[in-house]
Amino acid sequence: MDFQQLLEQARRGVHQTPVLPGRRSPKGMPGWRERATTSIEKLKGLYKEYPNHNWCSVARKGLVSIIDIDDLAFAKENGMPIPRTLTVKSPSGGYHLYLYATAKSDRLGNCDVLGPDGKPAVEFKSHNKTAAAPGTWRDDKEPYGWYRIVRDIEPVPIPDELVDWLWEHGSKKNHKDGKFPKAQWHPTFDRYDWLEHYELGLTGHEKNVGGVLYVELHECPFVGRAHTRAGEKSFCTCITFGNRIGFSCLGCPDKHIEELREHFEEEGIEEYEYCIYLHEDPSLAAKRTPIFTFDVEEAR
Ligand SMILES: [Zn+2]
Repeated sequence: MDFQQLLEQARRGVHQTPVLPGRRSPKGMPGWRERATTSIEKLKGLYKEYPNHNWCSVARKGLVSIIDIDDLAFAKENGMPIPRTLTVKSPSGGYHLYLYATAKSDRLGNCDVLGPDGKPAVEFKSHNKTAAAPGTWRDDKEPYGWYRIVRDIEPVPIPDELVDWLWEHGSKKNHKDGKFPKAQWHPTFDRYDWLEHYELGLTGHEKNVGGVLYVELHECPFVGRAHTRAGEKSFCTCITFGNRIGFSCLGCPDKHIEELREHFEEEGIEEYEYCIYLHEDPSLAAKRTPIFTFDVEEAR
């Protein structure tokens, strides 16, 4: 990673944070959010402290937003206004647009526009979301290659019409709220895929209590090992699937799913990208009863 490229990004006001060598996300680098900086002095120190590391740009409210276009054809077909701004091309052919945040874009916050396959075709990264910095080489996932600047101009403020487009087409990942009386899982949601995404080792033991499925984990994610005397089938540490995804640990009674999500974020594990709940998918939620329309609006 060329230090000059980091300085250029910092000069533009884009926070930079070191990530593990070869990586394109902060996975495995706790403290990445606090480490992200635009200070030249701090960058010099970090560059020395983390030699041969990759770097990520970090979106920050009030400063810089990043739009990650994975499926350009889909975005264009759906009328996405694409501004001329600092643009980086990823090895897989996606584009990262760097834009200055506005009050309007800050109100929108992080959101995704889902493509035909249910995966995000466009990701709007407003706050504490990352993209591999230009000049980064990735070899954590094929295709390997460089993130290189393909439009070398200064970022522009995000145009209002683009924010409007995101409002209209985006879905907010809002797993925490929800006023649904019953589980409304997305039809494509696979709980084992979710568990695998967060690298949660399973003992293979499960139990159903009052309609809630308890899936036992080998280790407590918060202590990094099994709690003392927590043997198999003790169901000490579990992910629960009831009306929502939950977390239950006899050793950490104060930890809930929110703390677990923060823990994953701190560990740099990317957020699960598929829909978990029905209300996250506007195309399906819209066909439901009015309570959904209300909840979809409120989720924003
Ligand atoms: Zn625990």
